[in-house]
Formats: sequence, C-alpha cells, structure tokens
Amino acid sequence: MQNVVIIGSGCAGNTAAIYTARAGLKPVVISGHEPGGQLSLTTEVENFPGFPEGIQGPELVENMKKQAQRFGADYRHASVIGAELGKRPIRLNVDGEWIETRTLIIASGASARWLNLPSEQKLIGHGVSSCATCDGFFFRDKEIMVVGGGDTAMEEANFLTRFGRRVTLVHRRSEFRASKIMLDRVKANPKVEFITPAAIQEVEDGGTGLVTGVTLKNLDSGEVFRRDVDGLFIAIGHIPNTKPFVGQIDLDPDGYIVSHGGARTSVAGVFHAGDVQDRVYRQAITASGAGCMAAIEAERFLEAEGH
Ligand code: NDP
Repeated sequence: MQNVVIIGSGCAGNTAAIYTARAGLKPVVISGHEPGGQLSLTTEVENFPGFPEGIQGPELVENMKKQAQRFGADYRHASVIGAELGKRPIRLNVDGEWIETRTLIIASGASARWLNLPSEQKLIGHGVSSCATCDGFFFRDKEIMVVGGGDTAMEEANFLTRFGRRVTLVHRRSEFRASKIMLDRVKANPKVEFITPAAIQEVEDGGTGLVTGVTLKNLDSGEVFRRDVDGLFIAIGHIPNTKPFVGQIDLDPDGYIVSHGGARTSVAGVFHAGDVQDRVYRQAITASGAGCMAAIEAERFLEAEGH
C-alpha cells in the first residue's frame, strides 16, 4: 500500500514528488509515456524564476526529478492504463499490474493535438512531428512548415529557422492567439513566411515514405495549392491525459479535470496538478505551484486519516 502515487513526471508531478518525499511519504511517481512532460520538448525557458540567464527545459525538469529522488521519490518508467477511484484504497493498473494507494495526485498533463488527416498520421516520425526540439535537427537546410497560431507555433517556427532553409507558418485564421512579443519575434525573422488563412488538406510523400509536400487550401478564396515541404511540425495545442479516469472523476467536455477547490477533484484523496486541469495558464511555474498545492493537500488528507 502506497501513501502517495503521482501520475506524471513534468513540472507538476516532479514538484509534488519533491514535497511529498520531503514530508517522508515515499511517493511513487509513474513517469508516463512522455517523461518530463512538455518541458522535455522545449528549448530555452526564460520565464522560470531563479534562472536569470534562462535554462534548457529538459535540464530544468531533470533537475526537479533528481531533487525529488534525493529525498526518496521512487520513479517508475511505466504508464497508468486503468484506475478504480470509486472506493478506497485507490487502485491503479500500471502497465498491467495493479497497485494500491491511499492518495493519488494526477499530474498527467496534456499531449500534443494532431490534424488527424490519415496522410499526416501515416507520416508521423517520417517528416511529420509535434516536437521541434526533438526533430528540428533532421531538417538542416530543408523546407519546414509549422501549423498553428499560438505561442507554441511561434516558438517552434523561430527555433526551426536555426535548421531550415525556410520556415513557413500556416494558420487557419489571419489573427493569432499567440502573445504579441512572440508573434513580433517571428514576424521579424526573415526566414519565416506566413500563409493565412489556410488549412492543410493532404500531406504528400510522393511514394517515398517521407514527407515531400502538402496540399493547402486558402480559407478565404477557396484556392487549393501545393508546397514542397520536408518537415511538417504540428503545433495546434494539446489534449488532457485523463482517459483512465473517464466516468470516475468530474471532467469538463474537453476532458480536463474539474477542480473542486484547491487541488481537490470530485473524489476524496485524489488531487490534480498542472496542465491536466489547467487550460488557462499552462506554464512551467504554475504547474510546479499546482504540484506543491496537491502535495500539501495529500499530506493533510493522510494526516486527517491518521497515517
Ligand atoms: P493554443 O491552444 O494557444 O493554440 C493552438 C493553435 O492551434 C491556435 O492558433 C488554433 O487556432 C490552432 N488549432 C487548433 N486546432 C487546430 C486544427 N485542428 N487545425 C488547425 N489549427 C488548429 O496552444 P499552444 O500550444 O500554442 O499554447 C498553449 C499554452 O502554452 C498557451 O497558453 C501559450 O501561451 C503557452 N505557451 C507559452 C510559451 C512561452 O511563453 N514561452 C511557449 C509555448 C506555449 P485558433 O487560434 O484559430 O483557435
């Protein structure tokens, strides 16, 4: 029987692990299918307090993990594929093996969203990517396209100009959701070209098994045209990782956990932290703050139960 199981190893999960480990609760962290969370897919982080020169995302999240391990957190490279939250103790199916815990912190984050075109899905890893940091390197001096109009798309477009001959940013509207500073940075980058309002209709491989181009539609004029592309980066947002909990805790229509105050979910002893609940701020620092809140709530819950 565990005191605390934490699902997820991004900023939220790692911070919850630091706090619960320092409280002597020996947390078990199930690191999930995207260990390190969204920060592990990013480059320079300039807005996490305490790093005046900035820090690389993967390094920041790895440091948090080491900090938690120093106090006894037990990290397991596995995923939660099922859960029974309705009765106590809470039961979790971790890659086929059931474990029991008195409290649970869900910090499973949100995963990249895809366009869901069959031709896109077929070419993931063969020129289609959701992670510029991971795959930008493969497109040195190549034609790169980024899809999206938020901060992620801007960040990726800028970053990818380090590699690509040219980066074309495609967005379905001509207004951008991205913050002004990030949009301005991309607009000022001579290697970035914008195509708006436009949607990708098809990803082509010309029979090669690798992306060679895309068919686009201008959403104002209806004109359909094609572009040569080697690397296609999809940066259109994220989907919360709550599948194992559907029907067991309150989720909103998009699948994000509904907070019942503080870090509480609709189930006693189950707490939320980070992007799995937060669709507004979604920052490393807010996720870490939420991980701290969840840890304190779990500690108090266990104390009240006499553990
Ligand atoms: P957002 O939800 O902010 O933006 C998603 C973008 O993708 C929107 O422009 C949306 O278009 C578009 N989109 C969604 N679905 C589709 C689709 N099916 N086809 C085509 N386009 C689609 O997600 P982000 O990942 O950009 O950002 C998430 C959060 O993280 C934000 O709060 C952001 O500020 C933050 N962030 C901050 C960074 C920083 O400060 N360094 C870096 C990266 C992210 P539309 O606008 O028309 O809805």
